[in-house]
Order: sequence, then structure tokens, then C-alpha cells
Amino acid sequence: MPELIAARPCEYRAAMIPADLVRCRELDEAWSTRSAGARLDAVRRAGRTLRDRILAGGAVRSVRTADIATFPYPTKLGLQGVAATAAPYLLLRSRMHLVEVAAGGRTATILVNPTDPERSAAAPYAARLADRFGATARRLLARVHTTVEQALAGWGIAPDAVDYITFDHLHAQDVRGLLAPGPGGRAYLANARLLVQQGELDALAHLHPLQAEWYIPECLLGVPADRIVALDGDYLIGGGFALVRTPGHTAGNHTLVLVTARGAWTVSENGICVDAYVPGLSQLRGVARHARDRGVECILNASTREASLDQYTSMVLEKTLASSVPDHPELPQHLASSELVWPKPSFRDGVH
Ligand SMILES: [Zn+2]
Repeated sequence: MPELIAARPCEYRAAMIPADLVRCRELDEAWSTRSAGARLDAVRRAGRTLRDRILAGGAVRSVRTADIATFPYPTKLGLQGVAATAAPYLLLRSRMHLVEVAAGGRTATILVNPTDPERSAAAPYAARLADRFGATARRLLARVHTTVEQALAGWGIAPDAVDYITFDHLHAQDVRGLLAPGPGGRAYLANARLLVQQGELDALAHLHPLQAEWYIPECLLGVPADRIVALDGDYLIGGGFALVRTPGHTAGNHTLVLVTARGAWTVSENGICVDAYVPGLSQLRGVARHARDRGVECILNASTREASLDQYTSMVLEKTLASSVPDHPELPQHLASSELVWPKPSFRDGVH
């Protein structure tokens, strides 16, 4: 494996954290709890303290959302094998958010999950799926709705105005089209930096065979080191935006938290729809029964199972951080970064 990121990834740490980012330590001790069951309780408790701090910062200035692509995904992975359906594939829809926050007397502009659908298709899993179905079937199943370039143009946002980009994790992501200098020596997002957990960079630098399926190893090749900010924990940016570690699906997974007039929303791919966070209320066949029989409160997006117990704990943390849907205190305001669209989930976007 070539050295794809840097010879010594630790060097990214110290000096590279921008002043906009404020480290939050509320969850540090909880995550270090040794027993998985005790860790779940500790993270749930500490999550309440972090939630209060995030909400106290007020709301972001704006959030815009764009659907990127719809694509097939194995049912047994997306719903942890508990859904009683004969359909081997679900359809998920990925989406991106543009968030503007007040930070240090100016506006910081953050792109959340700016997926490049064309480059995503190179992830080994996606490439194999395409081989199996053939080009025609793939065109029928998979559909690109917009690109990052089209979405920014539609919103009237200049690419140079973007300060940060971040993904909840780097599965099937490739940022070279956004951050690597092109033939003219300039990157498309010339002023943007990638905010990524160190754990994700470490995984990428030396992939385990069970991780390789989902990553594009060259995804950062050519991106200047000073455009990659390696995080090691939870951070606030300005008022109403936070990056919160949610390990499990991947070691360097994190959840983006946005505060609007409706309170806090969580964004990740730990669960593929709100049903996954309230499985006991789900109308998807087999899901509520599984929750009842096993006494569980979350259904994992189980594509990798890097650390399933922590992924479950991370989903409980997300439920703790997310505000409830108005008039539905049982439903968290969670936005799956790739959301189930078929079969239709019981709850969409945390809204009935
Ligand atoms: Zn993933």
C-alpha cells in the first residue's frame, strides 16, 4: 500500500486545527469506559451535557439541502438483516447540506457530505455491484440528482466561499475533484479544508481487508496536506454546528449536528432512516418484532461491523443529541446521510 496521505499522519494534528473549531471534552471520559454496557450508559449521560452546550450556542444562519444520488444497497446490510422482505436491495438517497454559521464575527461556510457520485462508483463494492447488474440495470436503479457544482451554482454560492467540507465517514468518498489542484494548479474549492477524524485517516492509510470493500484508497491523493484537518474528538464551529465522534460503523466516524429554529438535528449513516432509531415504532416488516424480541432501541447500518457495540452506542448518542420532532417526542430529528427511500420508511427526515 503506498503512503497515500502522509508519512506521519500524526503531524496533521496539533498546529492544523483552525481557530473556528472549539474542542469539547464532555464525552472524552465516557468513551474511555472499559465495559461496553457501562460505556453506553456513560455516553448517554455525557451526551446530555454536550447537547445542552450545543443548543446554548444558538442556531446556524442557514441550511440548504440537495439530493445527490439514489442507489441500491443490500437489505441485509442496511437494516441489519432484521427486515422481513424478499427484496435483496433497498434504495437509498444520498444528500448534501450547505451550512452557514456565525463564527468569530464572520460567516463560516461548511459543506456536509459533498459526495462526488461519479468517483464514488469506483469503491470496490459499488464497482462489483455494477458488474453484476450490468450498465443498463445500473442506470435503471441508480440515479444522479445533482452534483456539488450544480448545487452550489443553483444556490448562488461561489466555490471559493466554502471554508470547510466534511463527511460523516469516508466510505465511497473521493475528494480529489473538490480539493486536489487541477491542471491549472487550482482546486475547485480553492479555500476549503477537509475536516476528518484522525481515525479515518489512519484506516485509509492502511486498510484492513474487511474495510477495503468500502473505501477508495486514492481518495486524498494530491490533496495538499494543509487542506486536511485531522480531528481527534468533538468540536463546535460557531453557533449551532458540531462534529461529534460516533465510532463503530468506522473507527473515524463522526456525526454532524446542526441547530435550527426546530432544535438540533443529527446527520450520519449509522442508521439509514429514522425507523432505525425507533425500531419499536417501525412499520417496516420484521423491524418492530426484532426490537421487541431483542430489547434493542437501534438497528445498525451494518455494512462493515467494525465495532457494532460502539455503533449502537453512537446511535444512542445521536438520539440524545437530536431534538424531538415537534409534537412527536418519540421521534429524533435525524437526517440519514444516505436515507432509505424504498421500501418507504415509516418516518422521513424525522417527520411523519
Ligand atoms: Zn459506510
